[in-house]
Amino acid sequence: MLPPETELWNRVEQTAREVFGTYGFGEIRPPIFEPTELFARSIGLDTDVVSKEMYTFADQLRELDWPEWTYPDFKRWIDLAESSIRDGRIPRFRNSDIIDQIRAAVVSIEKDLGGRPDKEDLIDLRELMDQMVLGESLTLRPEATASVCRAYIEHNMQQLPAPVKLYYTGPMFRRERPQKGRYRQFYQIGAEVLGGSDAPGIDAEVIEMVMVYFAKLELPGVQLEINSIGCRECRPKYVELLRAGLQKVKDKLGADSQRRIETNPLRVLDSKLEHEQAIIEKLPRIGEHLCADCAEHYAEVKRQLDLRQVKFEENWRLVRGLDYYMRTTFEITARGLGSQNAVCGGGRYDGLIELLGGPPTKGIGFAIGEDRVILSLLEAGKGNAAEGRDVYIAWMGEKAQATAIAAARTLREAGFRVELPPVEQKFGKALGQADKLGARYALILGEDEVASGEWTLKTLADGSQKKIAKAELVKFLREAKRDSSLRSE
Ligand code: AMP
Repeated sequence: MLPPETELWNRVEQTAREVFGTYGFGEIRPPIFEPTELFARSIGLDTDVVSKEMYTFADQLRELDWPEWTYPDFKRWIDLAESSIRDGRIPRFRNSDIIDQIRAAVVSIEKDLGGRPDKEDLIDLRELMDQMVLGESLTLRPEATASVCRAYIEHNMQQLPAPVKLYYTGPMFRRERPQKGRYRQFYQIGAEVLGGSDAPGIDAEVIEMVMVYFAKLELPGVQLEINSIGCRECRPKYVELLRAGLQKVKDKLGADSQRRIETNPLRVLDSKLEHEQAIIEKLPRIGEHLCADCAEHYAEVKRQLDLRQVKFEENWRLVRGLDYYMRTTFEITARGLGSQNAVCGGGRYDGLIELLGGPPTKGIGFAIGEDRVILSLLEAGKGNAAEGRDVYIAWMGEKAQATAIAAARTLREAGFRVELPPVEQKFGKALGQADKLGARYALILGEDEVASGEWTLKTLADGSQKKIAKAELVKFLREAKRDSSLRSE
């Protein structure tokens, strides 16, 4: 990511901060990596994200780095490894077995060889060491909801006034085949509302906030789809119905969908395969199998969206790829993105905090794909990269340089973007340079200007030139800037 596009990234992030701030959200900055376990438990083992997309690595304990060892050192290493397993700093799983084998080897070396192992013994020991897992398993975050929930528990946020409203921005990592709108390192802007209430007004306000944000960015072709995927009561029953329905048509389905009948039947509804579409349309629909509470909740979410004049489409096939979602789910698409056109996904996840060991808590949130928002804005010509420079200072002569340096300082303090060439240039070259940088004005400082205190200001767009007193310059540029921003509105 390079300038000037990074200007656009900043604008997209800054607008999120402003809009989310008006809804009472504060920023949270979770870490980039977490214990693998956190994601495995929250997102779900059978999801694509956990089963094949996470970047995971073992974090080796530094104390256990291979010693340049002699046998007596090695005995100390074993003691350390053992105590690390006891403290839970390295996983017990697998390691305790290997440690037992190493201990046994050590005992026999002590007994049979009087503590003087031969080369063969050392090689055997080394092989056993190589099999140990010497650190905790860590994962580059594939999303941030799990981290936010972990932080909520760890920092006792249930004691804060509810609901707790948090937003984040930053990179996420998933092992994917990179293509337009799909990257291995991508950026999300997300928000979560956590607390005791699952009032449908919360769902609707969260959705309203994203839509207001997208409107403010002038993101083109924004469309909102919503669905309810039920709760722990009604969803399992529906999933069984769906599974039974899918079994009947199994032979007509592709390999992915066939596999999902067992692992995650809801995901079959996501299928984009042409020949599966007609089959899917005939499957049982969750809307007809919601329990009374979920049906009422969903109806009220829709009424609350209407109250807020948020336009939406219902899509019964909208299921999210992560296990923790329940009830309200939504997805927002935008124009200019081809098949990867989802710019935001979200939903309710009551119970996730409990699953992670926290108190009973309701939650809802969303994640916006920032890369795709940027692509869509650029595609629609809404990129508006900021102009290169406001003023290029073309100076000639030693005296003029002192004046130029002072002028640059004054203009920069007033907030203008200024380019000050470090060495003297001929005016012609300086003006060409100013043009290339997209400067709006060139401030010309030669010997005459310095002597008279009347400076020359050239407007590069039309080549017009005027004399301006040093004291008037900032005022003039401010007014010109205000006029042009009024015109562009
Ligand atoms: P998810 O966290 O899977 O619900 O995704 C939320 C949003 O993040 C999606 O709607 C996309 O806009 C964006 N997103 C997810 N995965 C990627 C990726 N690999 N590359 C770019 N954007 C992504």
